[in-house]
Amino acid sequence: MTDWDEKLGQLESVSRSLEPGCDQRKDWISRSIDYAETFIDGLPDARTYVRDLGQSSVLDGAIPESPTPISELLDQLAESVDGPGINPASGGHLGYIPGGGLVPSALGDFLADVANRYSGVHFASPGAARMERQLVRWMADLAGLPAEAGGDLTSGGSTANLSAIVTARDAAGIRPADIPRSTIYMSRQVHHCVDKALRVAGLEECPLRFVPMDQRHRMEAAVLEAMIIADRENGMQPWLVVASAGTTDSGAVDPLLQISSICRKQACWLHVDAAYGGFFLLCEEGREALPGLQHADSIVMDPHKGLFLPYGSGAVLVRDEELLARAHRYQADYMQDAQPPEGGYSPADLSAELSRPFRGLRLWLPLKLFGLEPFRAALSEKLWLARYFHEQVAQLPGFEVGPYPDLSVVTFRYNPPQGDAEQANRKILQAVHDDGRIFISSTRLDGEFTLRVAILHFRTHRREVDYLLQILVSETAG
Ligand SMILES: *Cc1c(COP(=O)(O)O)cnc(C)c1O
Repeated sequence: MTDWDEKLGQLESVSRSLEPGCDQRKDWISRSIDYAETFIDGLPDARTYVRDLGQSSVLDGAIPESPTPISELLDQLAESVDGPGINPASGGHLGYIPGGGLVPSALGDFLADVANRYSGVHFASPGAARMERQLVRWMADLAGLPAEAGGDLTSGGSTANLSAIVTARDAAGIRPADIPRSTIYMSRQVHHCVDKALRVAGLEECPLRFVPMDQRHRMEAAVLEAMIIADRENGMQPWLVVASAGTTDSGAVDPLLQISSICRKQACWLHVDAAYGGFFLLCEEGREALPGLQHADSIVMDPHKGLFLPYGSGAVLVRDEELLARAHRYQADYMQDAQPPEGGYSPADLSAELSRPFRGLRLWLPLKLFGLEPFRAALSEKLWLARYFHEQVAQLPGFEVGPYPDLSVVTFRYNPPQGDAEQANRKILQAVHDDGRIFISSTRLDGEFTLRVAILHFRTHRREVDYLLQILVSETAG
């Protein structure tokens, strides 16, 4: 015979420590806020890049049975996590494509996590599902998609690209037997997550056609059309064109107006990866740089890039929501109570996820708290900072710049008076990293080692760009 009082009483007395009292909670929260404030206060003078010396081992230990005080854990966090590597919260982050980290998003995550609303299914949290739907609608309007469009808030651009490609595959009705003839068109500048998505979607064996690019690394639309026609004449089935609205490498925007009209004529699905560039639609200069995006069949944009959110926020938009649902919707007996009301789809119907974080709140809170105006100004500022940097570097002795930026990526390299150019540029990169205030990255364009800056952080202003210019001058002087 089990003594229920004793058995359950004992377990409960320990398990209740997972729900500490108000004083304890407030202590943890206020210490975490102090930590965050110290972190943010220190940003203007903090290094953007700290090489990991691999000396810290606090994270290697096993998880203990007994509690550890929060002060100790926050110290470990500061030293072992928020110390080494690239500081993505810093305005000095001009490498890869910078993320953001708006503080109200952290509040959104906090509130979403405490209430733990289940945003996957309308029935479970009509408010959360509606908020996410509203945000998707706002993005679809921004992109210029029609009323039938739908979408999903994802963990990032890679998963959003996967979702779009799966949707395109099912819309085209591609069966395994069709794959060897089902040609796909893209430029070599397409983000590698698209290749990954094709593979995960079982499309790795589709013949890939790399469309040549012009001198500004944009897809040559006329050649695209000729390639599609030639393939069709040879018995192939062209079905998908992947264009970029802001390539990661050089920020180039493919000629979407021409490409979209080719796709319409040739009955190909046009997917536009605008993970980096999409939110530039919020400012006038950005809209001028992105004509034709509204004609895409599917679009990816990353709020954790162009809306300055913390990592974990991507979005996929599909011109016809029904096709997104067709590729993702499943029914299960145990979900029978969760029928969609009045036909509106729940986030889980449009996604590979069922349980998911309530991503809407980290997006909704900053957008509403700030209003759109500062976002528009910040995005416009990034474009002008890139133009400013392009002009300034072009004037530095020995430097050569890449194309005038379509968006906010500038490529450049140093041509040393003598010696190996690649080595000289590697040395400059190293010097920038050693200085630590600014982080930039490098790439290879047309086979040549190239330095690049990507300006997208909401904390990046003229000061950071001028720091970098100073370092370039002092590294190449005399
Ligand atoms: C960043 C980026 C991606 C990948 O997005 P993640 O959010 O990092 O998964 C895809 N395409 C482009 C053009 C990007 O800039």
